[in-house]
Amino acid sequence: MLPQDLYDPATFRATAHELVDQIADYLAGAGDADANSYAEPEATLAGWRDLLEKGAEPAEVFRRTLAQTVHIHSPRYAGHQNTPPAPLAALSDLLGSTLNASTAVFEMGRAGAAMERLVIETFAGLLELDDTAGGFLTSGGTLANLTALLAARAARWPAGDPWQDGQENLRPCVLVNEQAHYCIDRAVRIMGWGEAGVVNLPTDDDFRLRTEAIDDAVADARDRGLTPLAIVGSACTTATGSFDDLNALADAAERHELWFHVDGAHGAPVRLDPDRAHLVAGLERADSLIMDFHKMLMCPALTTAVFFRRSTDAYATFRQKADYLLSGATDPNDWSNFGRRTFECTKNNMALRVFTLLACHGPGAFRAYVRTVNDNGRRFANLLRARPDFELALDPQCNIVCFRYRPLDAPQTAGQLNELNALVRAAIVQDSPFYLVQTKLRGRTYLRCTLTNPLTTEAHLNELLDDIAERAAGLVGMAAL
Ligand SMILES: *Cc1c(COP(=O)(O)O)cnc(C)c1O
Repeated sequence: MLPQDLYDPATFRATAHELVDQIADYLAGAGDADANSYAEPEATLAGWRDLLEKGAEPAEVFRRTLAQTVHIHSPRYAGHQNTPPAPLAALSDLLGSTLNASTAVFEMGRAGAAMERLVIETFAGLLELDDTAGGFLTSGGTLANLTALLAARAARWPAGDPWQDGQENLRPCVLVNEQAHYCIDRAVRIMGWGEAGVVNLPTDDDFRLRTEAIDDAVADARDRGLTPLAIVGSACTTATGSFDDLNALADAAERHELWFHVDGAHGAPVRLDPDRAHLVAGLERADSLIMDFHKMLMCPALTTAVFFRRSTDAYATFRQKADYLLSGATDPNDWSNFGRRTFECTKNNMALRVFTLLACHGPGAFRAYVRTVNDNGRRFANLLRARPDFELALDPQCNIVCFRYRPLDAPQTAGQLNELNALVRAAIVQDSPFYLVQTKLRGRTYLRCTLTNPLTTEAHLNELLDDIAERAAGLVGMAAL
């Protein structure tokens, strides 16, 4: 086969129609389909190896992929934080991938650069950030947090320039909720600050950072020869969906002259819901903020925004010369070459996903989505409270709900309860129509649901609890427990 043959438009048309039909059938069947189909890694690998050796038609590759992937569009999906992408956003991705024009350089990705600016402007407005705010899109919350912390380092380094001269003679650190996402720790270690570079702050019963511990923690860090540069707020924490008190953190950052970063990967969009906007009061005081569109905003991964309160801070992060790419880009207002501010060199047109939804449906679609899935969190908590054999880990503030089965009439030791809930979760994943995950909080194993699918109803949630109760009751009867 000649390489030219792979570009045949007629073949593309036919294959694309076939694929769109498969996806439409998947969406049409999602209401009745299982959220998950489980098989062991080795069996899965063997099946794909076999297909690779035999060769396949595109339709077969697509069909098997659909069959062997978690179905986030199923209303019985209640697992990790991934959003079911709006089909329109996914469809826009086909165009973005076909064009493959990097949006880091304006000349290459003219449309994408303009869309990215407008997506950032629009969401800065929806999040009620200051007029001076600006930012860009990047590939995921993990990279976004690293990028923001690099900006914090550039802005708050006490003397000299770590980007230019390295970081000798300083032991910097950031203060953070002990429940913060592990990528904060990873970012700190990537910056070379080591284990001591993260100062974990204790949390209250609802896993929110104890703000009254900050002053002592700063003093203690300084006593130990560390230099605190930033404080990181979680909005919300990944495991429990707990929102730190951002105003109190902003006050502390001002008191101690620290950079204030907010990890809003999951929860920043609650600002779009008038009933829950108070959870992120103070968001506008953050020096930097990140937000994933692939968690709570109906877009395919990876699509993440990094916002800076002062747009110009973004330009200090990577001050590297790459004249062949960015000649003439010496003016900080040269917004159109996003590559000056992002980690990526080649960057796909992630703005297209958000822009398409915004332009075709308006911000109201995002508001409605955020409200619907968070309302499901409240609904689910109410169902759990009404069932005596279930226990919530905390009152959920959003669509992340942690709970466990704890049979009243068959008391268990702490260890047995942990094992019981882990076994229930394994049973659910391996052969039930539902998908959920688990987490460990202060030594206790909890089941964890993130309700990201707006098609999930109270009936589905009741069905899930019936399923768990039935399996758990069976396990309690077994000798091992
Ligand atoms: C999911 C998550 C991240 C990581 O984001 P990715 O897009 O998965 O890289 C970071 N912080 C929080 C609070 C998260 O929930």
